[in-house]
Amino acid sequence: MDVMTDTTTIWAWLSPTLTVTGAVFLIALERSFPYDQNQRFLRPGLATDFLCYAMMQSWILGLVIARIATGIDNLTGLSHLHLVSGWSIPVQVMFFIVSHDLYIYCFHRLQHRSPLLWRIHETHHATNNIDWLSGSRSHPLEILINQTIEFVPMVLLGAAPEVALIKVTIDILWGMYIHSNVDIHSGSLQLFINGPEMHRWHHSIEITTGVNFATKLAIWDWLFGSAYLPAGKPSGYGLATPFPHGYLAQVAHAFSSRHKYSR
Ligand SMILES: [Zn+2]
Ligand SMILES: [Zn+2]
Repeated sequence: MDVMTDTTTIWAWLSPTLTVTGAVFLIALERSFPYDQNQRFLRPGLATDFLCYAMMQSWILGLVIARIATGIDNLTGLSHLHLVSGWSIPVQVMFFIVSHDLYIYCFHRLQHRSPLLWRIHETHHATNNIDWLSGSRSHPLEILINQTIEFVPMVLLGAAPEVALIKVTIDILWGMYIHSNVDIHSGSLQLFINGPEMHRWHHSIEITTGVNFATKLAIWDWLFGSAYLPAGKPSGYGLATPFPHGYLAQVAHAFSSRHKYSR
C-alpha cells in the first residue's frame, strides 16, 4: 500500500469518526449553552432532516457527482495535467476551501435575489428550528449544483484523493457548527470565521432582505457589505409563507406553479 492510498484510507475512517464526534459534541453544547432556551432536541422535521436529507440524499448525490466528475475527466483528460498535484495537502485543502467559499457566498446571495434560484434555496430556510442538523436540509438541485462546482475541479485539477474527504469532513462540521443552537460569543473572530452568531440571523424571520450569506468565512460579508450582527437575538426562524412537510413534498414544492417568492 503506497503512502497516498494509506492516507486516503485513514481519512476514509477519520471522516465519519470526526463527523459523529462533532455532532455529539455540538448536541451536548446545545443542551448546556443554548442560544434559544426553548428549542427542543426532538423538534418537528428532525427525522426527515436526518434520514432523508443528511443520509439518503447526501449518499445518492455523492454517487451522482462522483460519476459527473469521472465523466468530465474521461472526456477532457484534465487531471493528467496534475495542475495542483505538486502542492502540499494543506495548501490544496485551503485553496479549495477559500475558492469554493467565495463561490458559495456569491451564489447564495444571488439565490436570495432571484425568484427562480430562491425556489431551490427556500427548503433550507423553511425550518422553524435552527440546530446542529438544520444545515442538512437543502434542495437536491441546490446541492447538485454547489457540490458539482465544489468537487469536479478537485478531480480535474488533480487534487490528492484525500483532499475531497478532508473537505467533506470540514464542510459537514462547519455546517453543523454555524446552525447549532449554541450561545457562542467569538468576539473579533466573527470578523473572519462564520458561526451561529451570524448565521442564525441569516435564518431569522424578521430579516427579509438577506444578510450574512457566508458559509465558512464571514470575511466575505464584512467585505461586501452584507454583514449583520446586532446585540439581540432573532424572534424566530423560517418562512412567511406555508411550506409542505415531508421530503418528497418539499422537493416538489420548488417546481410548483403555485409557488410564491417570499424573500
Ligand atoms: Zn439563505
Ligand atoms: Zn443555513
